[in-house]
Amino acid sequence: MYRIAVAGNPNSGKTCLFNYLTGSSQRVGNYAGVTVEFVAGDCNLCGEKSKMIDLPGIYSLTAYSQEELVARDYIVNEQPDVIINVVDASNLERNLYLTAQLLELNVPIVIALNMMDVAEKKGVSINANLLAQILGIEVVETVACKRLGLDKLKQACLKTIKEKILPKSVDYSHELRLVLPDLEEAINGNTALCGRFPVRWTAIKLLEGDEIILDRLKHNPECEKIDHMLSLAQKKLLAHSNEDTATAIAEARYGFASGAARKVTLLSEMSRRMLTETIDKFVCNRLLGPIILCAVVFALFAMVFQISQSLTWLPLFNGKWVSPVGMMELIFDSLSNATGKYISAPWLQSMICDGVIGGVGGIMSFVPLIFFMFFFIAALEDSGYVARIAFIMDRILRTFGLQGKSILAMIVSGGLGAGGCAVPGVMATRTLREEKDRLVTIMVAPFMNCAAKMPVYAMLIGAFFTQAKGSMMFLLWLMSWGFALGSAWLLRRFVIRGEQTPFVMELPVYHLPTLQGVLMDTWNRTYLFIKKATTIILAVNLIMWALMYYPRFDSAHIKETMSKNSQQLEKVAKNSIFAPVLTGDEREHTERAGSDISDANHQLGALRKKLKVALDGKASGLTENDRHTVVAWQNYLHEQQRLKNELAYNQLQNSFAGKIGLALTPLSELAGFGLRENIALIGGLAAKEVVLGTMGTAYSMGRNSDNDNSESIGQILTEDSNWNRLRAFVLLVFVMVYAPCLMTLAAIKKETGKWRWAVFSATYSTALAFVAAVVIYQIGNLF
Ligand code: GDP
Ligand code: MG
Repeated sequence: MYRIAVAGNPNSGKTCLFNYLTGSSQRVGNYAGVTVEFVAGDCNLCGEKSKMIDLPGIYSLTAYSQEELVARDYIVNEQPDVIINVVDASNLERNLYLTAQLLELNVPIVIALNMMDVAEKKGVSINANLLAQILGIEVVETVACKRLGLDKLKQACLKTIKEKILPKSVDYSHELRLVLPDLEEAINGNTALCGRFPVRWTAIKLLEGDEIILDRLKHNPECEKIDHMLSLAQKKLLAHSNEDTATAIAEARYGFASGAARKVTLLSEMSRRMLTETIDKFVCNRLLGPIILCAVVFALFAMVFQISQSLTWLPLFNGKWVSPVGMMELIFDSLSNATGKYISAPWLQSMICDGVIGGVGGIMSFVPLIFFMFFFIAALEDSGYVARIAFIMDRILRTFGLQGKSILAMIVSGGLGAGGCAVPGVMATRTLREEKDRLVTIMVAPFMNCAAKMPVYAMLIGAFFTQAKGSMMFLLWLMSWGFALGSAWLLRRFVIRGEQTPFVMELPVYHLPTLQGVLMDTWNRTYLFIKKATTIILAVNLIMWALMYYPRFDSAHIKETMSKNSQQLEKVAKNSIFAPVLTGDEREHTERAGSDISDANHQLGALRKKLKVALDGKASGLTENDRHTVVAWQNYLHEQQRLKNELAYNQLQNSFAGKIGLALTPLSELAGFGLRENIALIGGLAAKEVVLGTMGTAYSMGRNSDNDNSESIGQILTEDSNWNRLRAFVLLVFVMVYAPCLMTLAAIKKETGKWRWAVFSATYSTALAFVAAVVIYQIGNLF
C-alpha cells in the first residue's frame, strides 16, 4: 500500500487531478481556499493499491497559516512514498516557488505539469524534459480536467517509489552556501530539534525565523550552542547581502524559481492580448464590476425560478405539462392522499400526513429549485468568475471592516445568490491569518442565504410574490449582504476591534466550465441536501410533530357541537334525494332502486357527484325540498370546517410545543408572528429547513378532512385571511437573520475554541432579526 500526497498552489488543479485518480468527487472550485482540510482516497497505481491525500493549496511552507502547517506536517510526519507536486504550467515561476521548498524537504517528488492547455493558449511552451533534468525528478505534462497524462503520471510515481528517486539538492545563492554548512553541522544529529525534518531544512527554517522551529530550539539542551551559530550566520548574511535572513532566503528561492522557469520556458506571442484580460477590464472595473455582479446574481435567480417553478416543461401522463417543482408537489400530494385513505389509526395518519409528508415533503418539493441553483453556481465557480467577485467585493468589504479573503467564506456560506452552507463557510475562515478578521467573518457569514433557507424562501415567495419571484430573491440577497456588512461594521467598531490585514487575490484564467465537472458538483451538493432532509430534518420534524400532537387535548364541547350539527343535517336531509349520501347506507338505496349492490354503489357515486355540483351552486332541476337541503348542507360543511380548525387550534395550543409558542406570543405579535410561526421558528433553531416543515405540520394538522388534505402549505397560507404579503416578508427576513442552526453554532465553537462566541452569535443574530422584523412589520402596518 503506497501513500501518495498531492501538493501545490491553490487553483493548480490538485483536486481535479485527485478526483480523477481516485474516482472520488471532492469539490473543484476555481478560487483559492476551497480545500481547507485534506481528504484521502484510494487509487490504483498501475496495479498497486495506494492511498492518496489531497493536501490544502499552499504557496509556501511557512508556519504562518493553518494550511501550510497541515501540509508540511503531513509530508514530514506521515512520510508519503511520493508527493505529486501539481504545478500550474501557465504560472510556472510562481508555482516553482513552492516546488523549491518541497525540494528542500528532500523527499520523493513527481511534478505534474498541469494546465498545459492554458499555457499553450498563452503561447508558452515548456520543456518538461529539461525541467526534469534540472530538478532530478520525474516531470509529467498533464491537463487534469481532461484527464490527459494521468497514466504517465502514475507510472512516474511508481518509478520514483521503486527506484527511490530523490531530487537534487537546490542550488541556492552564494551567500547561503557560505553560512548553511556551519549551521547544519551544529544541528546535525540533534533529533530533538530536527524531528523528522532533514537537517538542511531545519537550518533554513532557523534562518528564516520559523516560529515553530525556533520554539523547539528554546527547549533544546544544545540551545545555546546552536543559537550562537545562528546569530553568527545571520551576521554573516547581513554583511554579505545587507538583507535580513528571511528576505535573503525568500529571494534565493525566487531566484531559483525564476531561473528554472526561464530556462525551460519558450515564450511566443506573449504580446497577444488574452481574452481574460479583456473580460477583466469590464468585470473588474470599479464602477461596472458591481453592476455586472448584480446583473449576474439577478439573472441567476430569474433563471432558477423560471426553470424550476414557472415554466412547465415536464410531460405528465395525461398530456399536460408541469414544472419540476410542480411535479414534486404532485407526487407528495398523491402520497398524502393515499396515506389518508389506507391508514386508519389517527395518530399514525397524522404522523405520516402531517409530520412526514407535510414536513419533509414540503422541503423535498423544492429540491429541483436547489438543484438548478447549485448548477448555475457551480458553473460560475468553475468559469473563474467567483474569484473576480472576491476582487470586486474587496474594496466594498474593506469599508465595512471585513477583509477581501472573508468573501470566500461568505460565498461558501451562500453569498453568491443562495445555496451554500455556513458550516464549511465558518471553516473556510481558517485561511484568514488575523484572528480578529476571522472572528468578524465567522459572526456575519451565517447571514448569507444558505441552501437550507431556500425552501422557506421559495414557499413564501411562491405563495405571496408570484409575479416577482426573481426580484424578491434578489432583494433578499441584497438584504443578506446588508445585514452582514452592517453587522461587520458594528462588530468592528464596538466588539472586535483591531487592524485589518491586506490581501492579494489570485485571478485565474477564465475557461468554459465542463458539463461533467459542473454536474458532478451539483449532484454532490444536491445529494447532501436530500440526505439531510431525509435524515436529520425528518427526525427533527417528527420530534416537532410529537410535541404538537401530544398531550392530546379533548375539546369535548366542540366535538359535541359537531355531532349535534350532523344530526341536525340528517334530520333536514331525511326526505331529500341526497339522504343516502349522508347515511352512506347502500342497502337502503339498493331496496329503493330495486337493483343489485354494485349497481347501487354506482348510483351512490353518481349521487355524490350530483351533490358536489349542487354544493358548488351549479345544479339545476332540484325540488324545493332538495334545494333547501343543499343550503343546509353548505352551512353545515362551512361550520364543520370552522369547528375542525378550532379543534386543531385548541389541540396545538395545549400541546407541549404550543405552550412554549404561546408563551412567546406577547413578544412575537409585535412582529406579526402567531403561535404556529413561533413553534416553527423554534424548530428552525435546529436547522432552517425545519421552519418550513414545522409550519406545514402546524397548519395542516387537523385539516385533513376528505377534500383538502392535499393542500400544500403555500396554498393553505394564501387562503388564510390572517396572512398577507407583509407577514410573509417579515417572516422571510426573520428566517434569514435569526440564530444560525445548531451545526453552524457547533462549527463556530470549534473554530473559535469558545462557546462564548457561539452564544454571542446566536443571541446577536436573534436580537437583530427580532428588531428588524418588528420595525418592518410595524412600519408596514402603517400603510
Ligand atoms: P485546486 O485548488 O488545486 O484543488 O484546484 P482545482 O482542482 O479545484 O481546480 C481549479 C480549476 O482549474 C477548476 O476549475 C478545474 O476545472 C480547472 N483545471 C484543473 N486542471 C486543469 C487543466 O489542466 N487545464 C485547465 N484548463 N483547467 C484545469
Ligand atoms: Mg482543491
